[in-house]
Amino acid sequence: MSLRSQMIVQDIVELFGKKNIRLTPQRIGVYRYLIEKKNHPTVDTVYSFLKKENPSLSKTTIYNTVDTLEAAGLLRMVRASEGEVRLDAVMECHGHFVCEECGEIIDFSLDGCRLPDRLNQFQINNYEVRAFGVCPQCSAR
Ligand SMILES: [Zn+2]
Ligand SMILES: [Zn+2]
Repeated sequence: MSLRSQMIVQDIVELFGKKNIRLTPQRIGVYRYLIEKKNHPTVDTVYSFLKKENPSLSKTTIYNTVDTLEAAGLLRMVRASEGEVRLDAVMECHGHFVCEECGEIIDFSLDGCRLPDRLNQFQINNYEVRAFGVCPQCSAR
């Protein structure tokens, strides 16, 4: 294991401790995939990747793992085009560009991430900004 990935695992162990989540190889595997790749994968993509290292891994385990991490506030679901659910472990406020051709989701920062004053009296449970269009790679094709 490289020094860099050792540091990442240490960070994850610490973070899970803070959130009171029991450490399992599946939880570490899913979370680590998300923070390293930052590519907004589907659950199936993460599953196929982890299954290579652990052939006995079941899809149910991965779905349960995703649920646990979501409940702990360590990941969130992002809806791509046509309602496809994708995973994101970046919890700071940011927007998503969704390419309607290739389905790629790109993060972009939102200036300030401040809600308008007229929403002061409202309880906000989820706030998301999504931009849909065609990414440069797809435009060039
Ligand atoms: Zn594209
Ligand atoms: Zn994101």
